[in-house]
Amino acid sequence: MSLLSLKNISKRYLSDRGEWTEIVRISSFELNSGEQVLLQGESGSGKSTLLNMIAGIVTADTGEISLDGADMRLLRESARDAHRARSLGYVFQNFNLLDAYSCIENVELGMAFGGKTDVEFARKLLERVGLSERLNYRPDQLSQGQKQRVAIARALANRPKLVLADEPTGNLDPSNAAIALDLIQSLCRENGTALLLVSHNPSLRDKFERTIDLMELNEASVSPTETGGLS
Ligand code: ADP
Ligand code: MG
Repeated sequence: MSLLSLKNISKRYLSDRGEWTEIVRISSFELNSGEQVLLQGESGSGKSTLLNMIAGIVTADTGEISLDGADMRLLRESARDAHRARSLGYVFQNFNLLDAYSCIENVELGMAFGGKTDVEFARKLLERVGLSERLNYRPDQLSQGQKQRVAIARALANRPKLVLADEPTGNLDPSNAAIALDLIQSLCRENGTALLLVSHNPSLRDKFERTIDLMELNEASVSPTETGGLS
């Protein structure tokens, strides 16, 4: 059984001109345990919307999203939050660290949402991303590259089944981008965690065993049989 399975997912938004626009329409997508997949697609193609639907932050209009055996759409809010904290890590383009807390507290807070805190593992993760000398620094005392490394450690804090990464290198210079990408991929591999990473940078294709273009995935979904043979 696959770790993540999407079936007949669709999402539309009301534009400011009052028209409904379908942003995402996917008939089928599967991701296996431990697999690393790159998701590409131009700006506005629905990449962030798709990741947020998988995380249960945005609700899909139709279809089923099953993650590690649970349908995110059918869970009540509290159960969904708990399932998300245990099963998922999320890395954002702008890091999303809590500025009032130190590096190690940011990682521990990620653990607390999952139900238990393991200070030793938090320390180990921060050492693994090269920040053993910065455990008690706050985010505003770190470089951009260091901030993203804290966020990567936090995403792995609950030993999740899947890490979602939304343009995680978008705010980094090339050398820090390469370090961050390498850390995300290695840490996921070391922990048996699958990875779904969004980037518009085509040079990342070489680093992934599978690349998906969201536009193609959307188009492939709208087959003549499914649209009732519209012509
Ligand atoms: P990407 O991450 O690929 O750049 P997004 O998923 O952020 O794309 O957005 C896809 C499209 O959906 C965009 O046109 C965006 O304006 C629209 N969109 C996203 N969120 C909302 C919302 N809450 N309300 C209306 N439109 C939205
Ligand atoms: Mg986006």
